[in-house]
Amino acid sequence: MHSLKVNLRMLKILRSYSPGYYLLCAFTSLFGQLQFYYNLWISAEIVTELSNSRDVQKIWFLVAAALCVNLLLKLFSALLDYLSRKAHGLLLANEKAAFTKKLLSLDYAKLEDPEIRNLRRKVEENSYINNYGSNYFITHIRALMDILFNLAYSAFLFAEMISYAAKNGFDAAALLLGLSMCAAVAGRIILSNYGAKKTGEADKRLGDAMLEINRYSRGFPTSNSMGKDVRIYRLAPIVEELDRRAIDMQTKFFSEFWNTMFKYIDLPESGVNFLINTLSYLFTCYYCLAGVFPIGSVIKYVGYLNRFTGNAELLFENIFQLKYNTVFLEQYLEFFDIKNDMYQGSLSVEKRSDRKFDVEFKNVSFCYPGSDEFAIKNINFKFRVGEKLAVVGMNGSGKTTLIKLLCRLYDPTEGEIVMNDFNIRKYDYRQYLDLYSVVFQDYNLLAFSLGQNVAASPEFDKNRVKATLCDAGFGERLDTLPLGIETPLYKNFDADGVEISGGEAQKIALARALYRSSPFIILDEPTAALDPMAEAEIYSHFNDIVGGRTAIYISHRLSSCRFCDRILVLDRGEIVQYGTHEELLSDENGKYFELWNAQAQYYNEKNT
Ligand code: ADP
Repeated sequence: MHSLKVNLRMLKILRSYSPGYYLLCAFTSLFGQLQFYYNLWISAEIVTELSNSRDVQKIWFLVAAALCVNLLLKLFSALLDYLSRKAHGLLLANEKAAFTKKLLSLDYAKLEDPEIRNLRRKVEENSYINNYGSNYFITHIRALMDILFNLAYSAFLFAEMISYAAKNGFDAAALLLGLSMCAAVAGRIILSNYGAKKTGEADKRLGDAMLEINRYSRGFPTSNSMGKDVRIYRLAPIVEELDRRAIDMQTKFFSEFWNTMFKYIDLPESGVNFLINTLSYLFTCYYCLAGVFPIGSVIKYVGYLNRFTGNAELLFENIFQLKYNTVFLEQYLEFFDIKNDMYQGSLSVEKRSDRKFDVEFKNVSFCYPGSDEFAIKNINFKFRVGEKLAVVGMNGSGKTTLIKLLCRLYDPTEGEIVMNDFNIRKYDYRQYLDLYSVVFQDYNLLAFSLGQNVAASPEFDKNRVKATLCDAGFGERLDTLPLGIETPLYKNFDADGVEISGGEAQKIALARALYRSSPFIILDEPTAALDPMAEAEIYSHFNDIVGGRTAIYISHRLSSCRFCDRILVLDRGEIVQYGTHEELLSDENGKYFELWNAQAQYYNEKNT
């Protein structure tokens, strides 16, 4: 019952992705399967006519009808097939798009939640690698329609056969044959049901093995970015070992699957089929000899009985498989059911021309989902509009976490962040996010045009994009690009795309932050890969460009941020110092003094 409910819910969801799909499939099955039964019926009619009155005109008529109806059915089926394939394409595309949309709309906190990450991995692997879940459901519902129409057509022929046989009555021999046939059909269904269960289990083991194999292959260091390490450290033997393991697993589980299939499906099926065929021939021949069935019935009834038993068996197999797939559908639906619980707020963020947004952290502590340690503890500080604030501290001291909280990617576990006297949770979430331009350490650029990357939008102001790129130090490189700001980045979609260096990517990411003229601008160590001197240069140059905006600079290198108005020093999630560079350095017992001296080796006289 529960399984039925889950499957029906899935059906409803998929119908909304491609409304006509299942109706088209039903018509495709209706006409597609009709052809087989029509051919059985018309062949039987022709044979009967040939063996009876041999009326040439009637025979020619039957032959012509057979040819014409076949032609029409074929053409009509081809049209329906084309339409249903098109609808199927739409269904798959919309299903995939719905998954992406769900991912994009998830609260960031949910996206990073270890449990949800695990669920997402399972859904992606099962659906898009192993083809369980939604894809499996789509394929099996389609097959179910063929099966049901086959059974429905068979039911007509069965009724016809019984009504013929009833005319003659059922003597002992006919009853015995009929009952044996029913017993054989029931036996085949029971056997195949058992076989389906056994092969289902083997299929699951094969599926799990394939998942692992795919995990190996996705982890294979064969990508371009890994190419250097592979060559320098001679990683090829490790890769080959992984390959060998994948091949061994594949061979083992495939042969187990096919053995099970042969033992529990193919072998018993062949035996019972043989029995059913024998009984069907005996039954129909018996009635033909008694003059009850026309001669052609041998073709018709033997053919239909075979088809009927095959489809009855498939029906059970299909239902079993749909039931087995329910667990994957549940995971899939569970993912779609994840509710965002980030409070969205309703207070409008004032569009202040003076950009006066004063922010204060009040006793803020935060613990990541799934972790029981505080990433930051009891954070209290205020910063004023237009200030240049530096957040410094060792790796892991909580700098990025502080920014994630400020930008409301997460809400604090304890305490509150206040902007212009209101808890930031109260502001309209979208409007609040618009206040910030952040360049994270792991920023991403997209394989779209340079202009679209800078503007983060399909449409953009060309002159402003160019000016911003020049401000970010990308001007010279821009002059070398034949398509200018229309140049696609990377070659994912376009062979004319340009590959850019790490430094150039940073400049584009900085330009993207500048282009969005939001009142707060934050650099969260996007330059961590550079040496300390280069980072310090970029930070101070960037500071010249941001003008009157409130800027926050994050680094674990103290020299990068010494130009800032105030510096906040974090250590193990807590604020240990807050003040100007000079104030902090004058405290010889402070963390800042300790770090500054520890890092002094990096800087020459001129820079200290
Ligand atoms: P920093 O930016 O100073 O290097 P972070 O703010 O990134 O430090 O990290 C602070 C602490 O929070 C670290 O102990 C880190 O391991 C932990 N942390 C960071 N991100 C996550 C996360 N998504 N889930 C769990 N713990 C995290």
